[in-house]
Amino acid sequence: MTGSQSYSGNGETKGKVAIVTGGATGIGEEAVRIFVENGAFVVIADIKDQLGHSLATSFGSDKVTYRHCDVRDENEVAETVAFTVEKYNSLDIMFSNAGIAGSYSSILDLDLKEFDNTMAINVRGVAATIKHAARVMVARKIRGSIICTASVAASFAGGAGHEYTVSKHGVLGLVRSACGELGAYGIRVNSISPYALATPMTCAALDVGPAEVEAAAYGSANLEGITLKADHIAEAALFLASDESLYISGHNLVVDGGYSAVNRWLP
Ligand code: NAD
Repeated sequence: MTGSQSYSGNGETKGKVAIVTGGATGIGEEAVRIFVENGAFVVIADIKDQLGHSLATSFGSDKVTYRHCDVRDENEVAETVAFTVEKYNSLDIMFSNAGIAGSYSSILDLDLKEFDNTMAINVRGVAATIKHAARVMVARKIRGSIICTASVAASFAGGAGHEYTVSKHGVLGLVRSACGELGAYGIRVNSISPYALATPMTCAALDVGPAEVEAAAYGSANLEGITLKADHIAEAALFLASDESLYISGHNLVVDGGYSAVNRWLP
């Protein structure tokens, strides 16, 4: 665990079956830990096979399994869902969290191949996970919870690269669109929008270490005395995954300490 809080461990996801895409590191890794701590069976779906496998085996239990899944490939997403249902006999939670930062280039130099790759992971990949999770939930009459990781960049521009900003706006669109149709089956679809935090993604994108990311994020944040950590986001995912949020759907849960609510005028 990277944050200052300890997990509640009250069994909010007891007996539920979850897939966490992008579960090998960062926010996904913390979500895997907190779901397991709260009684879930979890399939970690990622492309970082070594990290994913060693995270899964670190629990020393058959309740956690790693599965290679590149969310750009719809067949791999479908196979991961089928594998999960075969192994754990359900799918109650899809945490569609895999994502990349994309480039920070000027719009004048936009690399459209990179743009396509960011969309393929951050938007198309999320669409594929919603589709295949929802198919199983509908067919098996599971009142499941689908949670997608967006970003504060889903609601305004300027804090991230162009393609990332566009892709995260797309995630919010997907969540709103899917929740309308899936509500008829009792399936909830929500997103989480974190502010900047130190994970492998941000460190690689900015080419700095975790301490520098945290210092920069803390310096521009709104809440004094608290540094945003991956487990704060994982706690939000646990809430949306559990029956504690049973009537919440189509919601974008912003976890930014109030950052995006405040328009800082000139001093
Ligand atoms: P991270 O790099 O630690 O985790 C992302 C995970 O996604 C990695 O394990 C990576 O291997 C996996 N992944 C990448 N491409 C994939 C693919 N094609 N198929 C399957 N898995 C793939 O970064 P993170 O910060 O934990 O990112 C998780 C999510 O949080 C992302 O959607 C990201 O956009 C979002 N987010 C992060 C921040 C932040 O500041 N770190 C802020 C807002 C939103």
